[in-house]
Amino acid sequence: MTRLRLAIQKSGRLHDQSVQLLKDCGIDLSNGRDQLKLQVRNFPMEVLYLRNSDIPEYIEKGVADIGIIGENLLVESSARIKLVEKLGFSKCRLSIATPRSSNYESIRDLEGKRIATSYPNSLQDYLDANNISASIHTISGSVEIAPNIGLADAVCDLVSSGSTLFKNGLEEREAILYSEAILAARQDVNSDRQEILDELVFRIQAVQRAQRSKYVLMNVPNDRIYEVSEILPVLKSPTIMPLAEEGWSSLHSVIEESKFWKIISQLKKAGAEDILVIPIDKMIR
Ligand code: AMP
Repeated sequence: MTRLRLAIQKSGRLHDQSVQLLKDCGIDLSNGRDQLKLQVRNFPMEVLYLRNSDIPEYIEKGVADIGIIGENLLVESSARIKLVEKLGFSKCRLSIATPRSSNYESIRDLEGKRIATSYPNSLQDYLDANNISASIHTISGSVEIAPNIGLADAVCDLVSSGSTLFKNGLEEREAILYSEAILAARQDVNSDRQEILDELVFRIQAVQRAQRSKYVLMNVPNDRIYEVSEILPVLKSPTIMPLAEEGWSSLHSVIEESKFWKIISQLKKAGAEDILVIPIDKMIR
């Protein structure tokens, strides 16, 4: 039987949400695994557990067909792999930071400085694009302590909330690139495996669409249905059902989570009452 080979992070930041996404897609990972891989029982897939930074190379060499990795690795690694789908979690940016006490006005202040990073290629590209020559010190972890111990004048590291930089007396100066978890694939997936990949992407999109949306129900006086419906950015048009109480209807629709609060207050103003907001499990189009 043809199986699609998916590499995910063995442990680390991306692991838990990668596993959760697969579960949400109905892929059962409870089959017990040896150290490295698992055969999925209910989907034609094998899951390999690897280090995030090794995954692009394994995909390029054909050990895995696809992988869930940080988007920043597309830039950092020289492996020829392609982005299939953005996954919306582990959002972060690769930034240059210098000590809060240092004078920093522009990127020109990095000329001739020592910068510590675990992402030398992305940093070098950025420095080249800005005509800056600086010396890059590649270290594999705890980059943020480098200025405090005199190893570097600046760091280039992944940042999400900024609290690690703050705790180490550093200030973010330049954002080099933005990243989130992605599904990446080899350039030439064969046709049997491509079919399985298409099914996986279809499921991921259904899960993501549902996560971005809410199902809303509300009671509306019949003479306000038009005004309330006008506000709803609906899939097609809202479902309207009569209530037992004369002159009232129940109106059902789907709205995007990001528009949620703005729309709820508009709906109330237009006459909607008893608004219920319910999560959606899957959304197929
Ligand atoms: P790690 O588990 O530290 O090897 O990081 C794996 C991936 O998670 C990286 O390639 C990034 O895409 C992402 N990542 C790293 N640091 C952060 C962060 N501070 N916030 C969000 N995502 C991050």
